[in-house]
Amino acid sequence: MSLANGRSYLAIPGPSVMPEAVLREMHRAAPNIYEGEVVEMMDGIMRGLKRVARTAHDAVIYIANGHGAWEAALSNVLAPGDLALVPATGRFGHGWADQAQGLGIETQVLDFGRKVPFDLNRVEEALRADKAHRIKAVLATHVDTSSSVRNDIAGLRQVLDAVGHPALLMADCIASLGCDVFEMDLWGVDVMVAASQKGLMVPPGLGLVFFNERAAERRKGMERVSRYWDWTPRARPEFFYQYFGGTAPTHHLYGLRASLEIIHTEGMENVWARHATLARAIWAAAEAWGAGGPLTLNVTDPANRSHAVTALRIGAPHGTALRRWTEHEAGLTLGVGLGMSEPDDPKGEGFFRIGHMGHVNAQMVMGLVGSIQAGFDALKLPYGPGALDAAARVISQG
Ligand SMILES: *Cc1c(COP(=O)(O)O)cnc(C)c1O
Repeated sequence: MSLANGRSYLAIPGPSVMPEAVLREMHRAAPNIYEGEVVEMMDGIMRGLKRVARTAHDAVIYIANGHGAWEAALSNVLAPGDLALVPATGRFGHGWADQAQGLGIETQVLDFGRKVPFDLNRVEEALRADKAHRIKAVLATHVDTSSSVRNDIAGLRQVLDAVGHPALLMADCIASLGCDVFEMDLWGVDVMVAASQKGLMVPPGLGLVFFNERAAERRKGMERVSRYWDWTPRARPEFFYQYFGGTAPTHHLYGLRASLEIIHTEGMENVWARHATLARAIWAAAEAWGAGGPLTLNVTDPANRSHAVTALRIGAPHGTALRRWTEHEAGLTLGVGLGMSEPDDPKGEGFFRIGHMGHVNAQMVMGLVGSIQAGFDALKLPYGPGALDAAARVISQG
């Protein structure tokens, strides 16, 4: 017998759980892309996106996943031979650096491992050493979805300013946008990339790039930019098709309109606070389990943990076994441990991640915690007592 039948919870860190309203809005006949609703709703969608990013500057949409948004952002401001500084705290920093290299951009990667955030002193040293200002941009992952480390993006701006370094500050908020506090303009971020399938609760397929005037200036100085990735016509389209460089992602736009409505009805501060409390409930449970068993949270200091995703270690092969059990027996799909070991290393089976981004609430998190504990029991894995109580206490206190 399986107890998995019923509504499932995909608790991997993206794609995330989608609201019914988003799905319902997408279930419709193909709309006209030359006039009518799709054309008319763009203004509101772009305004809604900028409110999530907390920017008064420009935003563009690509029919792409996060990797596409990475490439789009790079293509507008960095040319082959330019140097980018990439502080990395897990898989995704290295991924963005790798993509830059593919475009002929040189990278200087500062690797901070997989458990702690950027050391701003080391970033400062690297910037100070760059007297000739060869570094044209700092590529910074806000939340690294593999390690669940959250980095201090505002701190990076302060470092750039203290050093007087003109490099652009580019932030990857693919995991964090709509989950962890992020203030594009207040923090002085020049370029930010995001995607539809995480905090925005829409299926994968939309890559988002936000950019300010400094970045737009840099774009103007570029000798050559791919027509498709060029953000200029997308940000200020003369004709509707220019928003997307071709056919609009019609159904995704309906979904996105619905998700933005949900987000702004709740209010950004409330969205952030909900994610913070739900994350603390999960951590409280994990700490209780860990007191009497092998489970540990990957990031030790709660101040450095994302509110969107939590990476855990439990020792091989228990991570894989637990994921299989919760998926097949409880209808709860946990995330694989990504980038925590080399791909062929059996130790990789000792990690898992919990996605708690987007359309998630207290009863889902309590169900998640209870289901994980049932998995420990079924697999005869030792754990400390009081995890459900601890999670419930966090939730009851808000
Ligand atoms: C998910 C994610 C990506 C990659 O996005 P895709 O849509 O899978 O291409 C990049 N960076 C971060 C921080 C992410 O969470």
